[in-house]
Amino acid sequence: MAEPLKLKAKSASPGIASGPAFLAEEPQAPSAAERPDAAAPGTIGGFGALEKAIDISIGELEHLAEGADAESRDIIDFQIEVLRDPTIAEATGARMQGDENVVFAWVATLDAYIGELEAADEEQMRARAVDILDIKNRVLGALAGTPIADFPPGSVFVGKDMEPSRFLAHDWSKGGGIALFAGSTAGHVALLARTKSVPMVVGTGRFSAADGDPVSVDGNAGAVILKAGGMLIPPLAPAQAPTGEMQIASGELRTADGVPILLSININDPAEIDALDPATAGVGLMRSEFSVTSIADAANEERQLAIYRRVLEQAGDRPVTIRMLDIGGDKPLAGLEDLPALSPGPRGIRLLLARPEIARVQARALLRAAVFGRLSVMLPMVTFPDEIDRMRELFREEAEKLGRRALLHRMPPIGMMVEVPAAALMLDTFGSAAFFSFGTNDLAQYLAAWTRDDIDADAGKAAPAVLRLIAQAVKLTVGKPVSICGDMAGNPSYLPGLLAAGLRHFSVAPAGRHAIRSAIIGLNADGTRAAGE
Ligand code: PEP
Ligand code: MG
Repeated sequence: MAEPLKLKAKSASPGIASGPAFLAEEPQAPSAAERPDAAAPGTIGGFGALEKAIDISIGELEHLAEGADAESRDIIDFQIEVLRDPTIAEATGARMQGDENVVFAWVATLDAYIGELEAADEEQMRARAVDILDIKNRVLGALAGTPIADFPPGSVFVGKDMEPSRFLAHDWSKGGGIALFAGSTAGHVALLARTKSVPMVVGTGRFSAADGDPVSVDGNAGAVILKAGGMLIPPLAPAQAPTGEMQIASGELRTADGVPILLSININDPAEIDALDPATAGVGLMRSEFSVTSIADAANEERQLAIYRRVLEQAGDRPVTIRMLDIGGDKPLAGLEDLPALSPGPRGIRLLLARPEIARVQARALLRAAVFGRLSVMLPMVTFPDEIDRMRELFREEAEKLGRRALLHRMPPIGMMVEVPAAALMLDTFGSAAFFSFGTNDLAQYLAAWTRDDIDADAGKAAPAVLRLIAQAVKLTVGKPVSICGDMAGNPSYLPGLLAAGLRHFSVAPAGRHAIRSAIIGLNADGTRAAGE
């Protein structure tokens, strides 16, 4: 058993509590899809929906206030007062006039307010930021038909900060305490903790612990004790782009003539990460659009962070490439179809750049998730180099905002799908792409002038053209990491051509990895069959 670790902290509420750690994400509202009784995402409407969500939130807070002690009621009254003040709804309405969807308009308005509070000189003001964050998530939850999540009674809440709602909705009669990486002794939760005699410390600095690890909070001396050991996490330096060598080092597979090959998996559902067996190099493609299935999810940074973090933590030291939302076209996002500017609409990166409020939320979630593993971010449907430059700039801006809010984050390498012929032909001009991955599904359809759902489409017929284009494009990658994640990578009959084109990293659906593995060991790196095969 590891040595217990004692970390110094500031006492916010006296007393000693021990229990299993509950590691909190930022306040999180589950998606509509996670709750069978939730309103359909399509019901998220205009300003009327916001007014309704605010009313629901006020009702919930009033309910919470019933039977609450005087201190708690003060805080709840403050939150109700903020919600009743028409200023926030009006500011949100003004953003909606500018063609912003109601959930994004709400999130942007509240984020601006939170940012102002967090930057305030007086501690009292800074401590109010979490109260507003609480309101933001409560209304966001009401817009999506979801409540604020609770945590197991008796546990020690561990996180950056805690919202008053969570505190008030929680059953403290079973014990438990609070240890905050940041937080303030002047904050509302600290005040509530003192009133309810819940031991609490703040300002521990970020430390590592696993969910369920035994933790003690010493609110008398100002300390947190990690009984199973742990460590303080220093701020991280920006991540390096993965080099070809780094990637090769983590793979085990070789062609018959001894050339190292990487075999990764594509995942659509985060649960598919379970297929990451020891012989798999990592996740070559996570299609985030299958985890973010409504406009409410797309606006929910905390929910996305939780999903990406889980995948990265499960992947451990293996690289994970998460593709930004490839929505539009045949992958609509529920709720987005109401926006006139998007009909019939762009797809992939063009849509993300046309609706930067969607990209900004995802960028923040990815920047924050990057701290938890070896993340790379991949951009879908890139056609021109300036699209990458603009997205990188957006990431830089969001990283700066997170920095101002003292939220831990890390800039991941940003690469691109090669799935539009114009990009494939000009790969050497994409100087700011950190890596490339061929998407043969779209490449085939755009080369052969099919639509994705064309029943007459014959992938086999288009394959020679796709292979020739890939072979040309690989020569233009100027030493950057290159892989293939389209369906052709998972079809053993195309492997000789793909190897001959110079590809050494294949990312395939989990079900196809064994067949591809066996096929690779029977081939030489130039795609010829090995002697005796
Ligand atoms: C592709 O186009 O090959 C690809 C991997 O992307 P998707 O199938 O998600 O469009
Ligand atoms: Mg594609």
